[in-house]
Amino acid sequence: MITTPIADTGVEVTPLGFGTVKLGRNKGVKYPSDFKIPDDRQALALINLAAELGINLIDTAPAYGNSEERLGTLLAGQRQRWVICTKVGEEFDNGASHYDFTPEYTRFSIERSLQRLNTDYLDLVLVHSDGNDLDIVQRYGTLEVLNELKQQGLIRATGISSKTVAGGIAALQQSDCAMVTYNLNQQQEAEVIDYAHANNKGILIKKALASGHLCQQGEDPVARSMKFVFSRPGVGSAIVGTINAHHLRSNLHAALSALGR
Ligand code: NAP
Repeated sequence: MITTPIADTGVEVTPLGFGTVKLGRNKGVKYPSDFKIPDDRQALALINLAAELGINLIDTAPAYGNSEERLGTLLAGQRQRWVICTKVGEEFDNGASHYDFTPEYTRFSIERSLQRLNTDYLDLVLVHSDGNDLDIVQRYGTLEVLNELKQQGLIRATGISSKTVAGGIAALQQSDCAMVTYNLNQQQEAEVIDYAHANNKGILIKKALASGHLCQQGEDPVARSMKFVFSRPGVGSAIVGTINAHHLRSNLHAALSALGR
């Protein structure tokens, strides 16, 4: 499996990542149809399939319901083979998101993620933006705390899951990686990808399939989507959230084909 480095951190990611919103949360999401959260047996089968296919990146967040806790149990005995990405700043309780980007809360959140994920290090931690990216980067000191924890060896790479060009670029100036929305329907953050490419920073794509809405449009939407995403230099990985084994296989096939593999 080919991998792409995240800046100079030593973290390497496969072209397809496994997104885990659907392992922990089915409220307040924008997927085309309702779904049932997979039970432990089904979730482990998906994780094992991802591993068998050679995928190394798994993406979670405190805001994805009990996704972190579940992964702590489901990944027992296989921690070393995964690049675990989690986030700080967003919480989802009783059907609504709320945010806290303060240094104190950031430290608390990282301690909690380490416990929930049953690990003593996190490969990648991103600020889970509420949309005010630039304000968070400039005023809260969230990235400074993450970078301190990186110095202490608790985190290997830091960054932001951004929503704006200005915020994404400002965050990259003090971190390793940005997770941006980029798909056939939404290209507003393309400039962040270009900045990362020019400055040796990592890029992860979220919503490569527009949360599944693209899959309902036109001929071979997954192949077209992956071709589109990977035609932009600088893209390291597309994190696709699926709880369907067939989709997982075909998404990887499409990602690798897009890269000429
Ligand atoms: P996505 O990956 O674009 O789309 C996922 C949806 O597409 C799921 O409903 C999935 O349904 C469907 N799908 C996947 N492969 C398919 C295929 N081959 N054919 C048909 N349908 C397919 O969007 P996302 O889940 O919103 O985002 C992906 C990941 O990015 C998330 O899991 C999360 O890890 C991360 N994310 C991060 C943020 C953030 O702010 N940081 C925000 C959103 C998402 P099936 O389960 O049926 O396959």
